[in-house]
Amino acid sequence: MEQSSNFIRTIIKQDLETGKRDHVITRFPPEPNGYLHIGHAKSIVINFGLADDFGGKTNLRFDDTNPLKEDQEYVDSIKEDVSWLGYEWDALHYASNYFDEMYMCAVLLINKGLAYVDDLSADEIREYRGTLTEPGKESPHRARTVEENLDLFERMKNGEFADGTKVLRAKIDMASPNLNLRDPVLYRVSHASHHNTGDAWCIYPMYDFAHPLEDAIEGVTHSLCTTEFEDHRPLYEWVVRECEMEMQPQQIEFGRLNITNTVMSKRKLKQLVDEQHVDGWDDPRLPTISGMRRRGFTAEAIREFVKETGVSKGSGVVDSAMLDHFVREDLKLKAPRTMGVLRPLKLVITNYPEGEVEWLDAEINPENPDMGTRKIPFSREIYIEQEDFMEEPPKKYFRLFPGNEVRLKHAYFVKCEDFIKDEEGNVVEIHCTYDPRTKSGSDFNERKVKGTIHWVDATHAVPAEFRLYEPLILDSEEEDEEKTFLDYVNEKSLETLNGFIEPNLKDIDVQEKLQFFRHGYFNVDPKHSKPGKPVFNRIVSLKSSFRL
Ligand code: ATP
Ligand code: MG
Repeated sequence: MEQSSNFIRTIIKQDLETGKRDHVITRFPPEPNGYLHIGHAKSIVINFGLADDFGGKTNLRFDDTNPLKEDQEYVDSIKEDVSWLGYEWDALHYASNYFDEMYMCAVLLINKGLAYVDDLSADEIREYRGTLTEPGKESPHRARTVEENLDLFERMKNGEFADGTKVLRAKIDMASPNLNLRDPVLYRVSHASHHNTGDAWCIYPMYDFAHPLEDAIEGVTHSLCTTEFEDHRPLYEWVVRECEMEMQPQQIEFGRLNITNTVMSKRKLKQLVDEQHVDGWDDPRLPTISGMRRRGFTAEAIREFVKETGVSKGSGVVDSAMLDHFVREDLKLKAPRTMGVLRPLKLVITNYPEGEVEWLDAEINPENPDMGTRKIPFSREIYIEQEDFMEEPPKKYFRLFPGNEVRLKHAYFVKCEDFIKDEEGNVVEIHCTYDPRTKSGSDFNERKVKGTIHWVDATHAVPAEFRLYEPLILDSEEEDEEKTFLDYVNEKSLETLNGFIEPNLKDIDVQEKLQFFRHGYFNVDPKHSKPGKPVFNRIVSLKSSFRL
C-alpha cells in the first residue's frame, strides 16, 4: 500500500537500518466500549499501512480491561469494521487473556518494593497527588512491608474487599514533575463480570499498567498511539522495564484526527445513541464506521481521506468537505446515474398520445461509457420536482414557468402552457406541450433552451423514500458552561422525502450506490430498504467547494 513518508516511517526505517529491530509488529488496540469511528480509521490505516510497508505484522487487540463498559456487541462490530475497511489482522488478541501474566507482573513489582496496596479513596488519591506546581503527598500506606502488600493484594484478588476500598499503586515518585509518575494506580477492585473472563477476576489492571504489558507480551515493536499519551510514555517505559519484560516496545505518538462538525468520542457517541438522538450506532449521521457504511461512504474513500490527512504530531481540524470530496472521487466513475424525483409534481403533456409509451435510451454514466445504456419509459404523464416550476419566477430562473420551455433530460423539450392549483393555492399539476422534433439525440437546432430538468414517468414510477442529512451537531461560537454538546444537536439533521424513481431500480440491492441526477450520490439503506420499496440515503450532494 502506498503511503507518503512521515516521521513514524522514518523512525521505523532507521530502527531496521541500525539493527535496533529486525522486524516490525504493530497493533490496533481498541477498547470494546463502543463502535469504531472515523478517528479509529486513522489509527487503523497508520498501523496496518506502516507494518505492511515494511513486511511486518499487525494485531487486532481488544484492550478489554474495564468490564463495566465493555460488551461482546462492541467486539463483534469492531472486527466487522476493521475487515470492511479492508484490513486483515495477523493475530487476534484480548488483553483479558493476559490477566494471569499481568497479576504475576504486579506481584513481581511488590516483591521489588515497587508497588503497594493503598486504602485511600479515589478522591483522597487525587487530593494527595498534588498539582503541576505542588508536589504530591505520600499515602500513609506507602510504607507497608512487602509481606503485608503480598497478603493484601492476594486478598484483593480473592474478593475480600469491596469496590473502591483498596488499590495497588506503583511506588515511583510523589514529587515527580510528571503527574503520571506520582504512584499511579495499577489495579482496582471491581466485582464485575467480564465478557471474556466471566467472574474469574474481581481486580482489573489500569490502562497505564496493562497497555505496555500487552504490547510487550505480543512482541509489538512500535506501539503507535495519539499524543495525549505522550506524558504517559515514561510510565509505559517504567512498567516494561520494572516488570522485566523480554521485549521492549517503543511508544510513538501521533496527532488525533479531528473533523469539523463531528463528535468523535465513543463516550459522546454512546450518549447520542443511548438517549435516542439517533437510530443506533449505525445511524447514517454518525461518524462511526458502521454509520458511514450505512450512509454509503466507501472503504476506499475513507482510506484515501485518512491518508490525505497525513501523519504528524500536530492535530489540526480537518474540514468535513474533504471527506465528501473523496467519496465523490471514488463514486464518480463507479456509480450509475439515474433520475429520481424527491418532491414530486405531476406534469401532463397534453399533446402526447394517450396510452403511448416510448422507451428512451440513456447512458448509465456519461463519464464512463463502458457502463453502457439503460431504457427509461416516457409517456403523457410524468413527475418533476416541485422546485422546477414557479408561477412567478425571479430573474435567471430557467426552469418551468408559464410560457417557458425546458429540456426534459434524455427526452424532449416541453413548454409550460397552464397549471392547476388546489383549494389552498398549491400548484398540483402542470400542463405542457412537447415538440416531437426535439427528441434527445436528434439534430434539432431551431431553438435552444436554457434549463434541463429531470423527471420520472408517472405510470411506471416506483415509489421510494429519500433521506437527506445535515450535520448532527451544529457549529457554535458561544461558550456557555451550562451547555453540553447535546444542546447543539441539530433537530433538522434528517429530512425524509417520499418520491419516485425509474422502474429499473425497483428491486435494487441494499448498499448499491448511485447518482441521482442533480441530487447527489445515494446509498440503498441496508436496514430499511425493501425490494419494491427502496430507501435511499444521500451520501453527499454533487456540489463541492472543496479543492485539494
Ligand atoms: P475515544 O476517545 O473516541 O473513546 P479512544 O482513544 O479512547 O477513543 P480506543 O478504543 O482506546 O479509543 O482507541 C483505539 C486506538 O484508536 C487508540 O490507539 C487511539 O489512540 C486511536 N484513536 C482513537 N481516536 C482517534 C482519533 N480521533 N484519531 C486518531 N487515532 C485515534
Ligand atoms: Mg479509550
